[in-house]
Amino acid sequence: MTLFPIFTDLKGRSVLVVGGGVVATRKTQALLEAGAAVVVGAPALTPSLQGWVQSGRIVHLSGTFEATWLDAVWLVVAATDDRTVNETVSQAASARKMFCNVVDDPALSSFQVPSIVDRSPLVIAISSSGVAPVLARRLRERIESLFDQSLGALAALAHQFRPQIKASRPEMGGRRAFYDWLLDGPVAQALRQSRPDDAERALSEALATPASPPIGSVVLVGAGPGDPGLLTLKALRALNEADVILFDKLVSPAVLSLARRDAEQISVGKHPGEDHHATQARIHNLMVDHAKAGQRVVRLKGGDPFIFGRGGEELAHLAAHGIRFEVVPGITAALACAAYSGISLTHRDFAQSVVFATAHCAKQENELDWHALARPHQTAVFYMGVSQLDTLIAQLLRHGRAPDTPIAIIENGTRPEQRVLHATLTTVSSLAHEHHIKAPALLIVGEAVSTAATLHWFGQVLTGLPAISRPSAAFRISDRPHHPDPA
Ligand code: SAH
Repeated sequence: MTLFPIFTDLKGRSVLVVGGGVVATRKTQALLEAGAAVVVGAPALTPSLQGWVQSGRIVHLSGTFEATWLDAVWLVVAATDDRTVNETVSQAASARKMFCNVVDDPALSSFQVPSIVDRSPLVIAISSSGVAPVLARRLRERIESLFDQSLGALAALAHQFRPQIKASRPEMGGRRAFYDWLLDGPVAQALRQSRPDDAERALSEALATPASPPIGSVVLVGAGPGDPGLLTLKALRALNEADVILFDKLVSPAVLSLARRDAEQISVGKHPGEDHHATQARIHNLMVDHAKAGQRVVRLKGGDPFIFGRGGEELAHLAAHGIRFEVVPGITAALACAAYSGISLTHRDFAQSVVFATAHCAKQENELDWHALARPHQTAVFYMGVSQLDTLIAQLLRHGRAPDTPIAIIENGTRPEQRVLHATLTTVSSLAHEHHIKAPALLIVGEAVSTAATLHWFGQVLTGLPAISRPSAAFRISDRPHHPDPA
């Protein structure tokens, strides 16, 4: 082993930081977070350091380094940009058998500061012994993404209940099983849900019974539109921890490939000949059965589960059956497709509002408020609209949208095969036909679509963008005082 790792308790202990620049400031901040009493020695200080001196958080020794600065401290960090000074500090520390870290200089250091993942009281430290700091940092980022922020609270709770756990599970095997339950089951879940009282109650109740209650639960996860890079960290964690994944047709294989290797993956899309009710009933039963069998179920849906995703219905079913659940939002197709085709949905020159609608029921006259959807200065996004394109265009025109209003169709948004078609309400139908546009595709209607002329950056554009028409004076919403600047 090149370096022997130790965790130091610096609370209330003096630590000297030599240097008053940006690096010294960063190191001082980290030491303050660990509760150290920091003494900074330097001729001049950054404004942050000066502020801490003024508020009494740190002590300043003015001037250039002197060996006597080491008299009252436990550790020393040299963080100047002058190697001679750093070397002097390092030698003075060695002469006193004191540990010294010289920032980014392993040769002069007798201890090094690892990259850390902080879920206090749990702290994970990573070191490459100074050989490859970039690698250590990468590793830190990976580990950071694996653990929920609530892990620290879980560790603290486990510590608090340690004597009771030991008493109720005297056998080593039983105790280990109990800790597994603690990490995977309702206690960890309650902490993720910001319900510490529930966590404590679940823990106390479990201790009172010889067998721990089952851990089965469902996480309703938004898988985003396809690009796996658009998953949230929480979604990734849920996929890593799942025993069973029930996924829709819309979920991309690239997302599924990130799931735990031995998780059972079940496609729950509509079977041929099956109606929506039957499909939904089958999904409801699968969720309940697997969760009741004690499994961690991930119900994985394209985009966001609460946007045209029946997420609410599925959760209501779980609630009715007493199954615990969590929801992880996903990036919905409207936001993702707009971003990946350079359409600034509420660009203040063009739109004051954005509406998301489903064109699924466009044929039934009364189902959609076409008057509201055709409103000017608004961007309208239609999900499930390809098969209803002609009806939809006719309705928008009938309700007052101008024939030259720009429209974009984004097919397979965010995926490598993404295609974007730009048109106007007059031309879109024949162009969509000509290019064989297929589902999944999203329609975006409104003047804001013209921002794509300059902002498009991803994948193919099928048709020339309509010439960008600068908004007329009457249309320039941004000139109006009531349209606030988001800054
Ligand atoms: N819950 C999903 C929407 C489900 S409805 C979400 O939040 O995105 C299914 C419709 O979403 C499709 O018919 C299509 O209109 C749209 N959609 C989903 N993924 C898409 C993608 N990658 N590209 C384009 N449209 C997409």
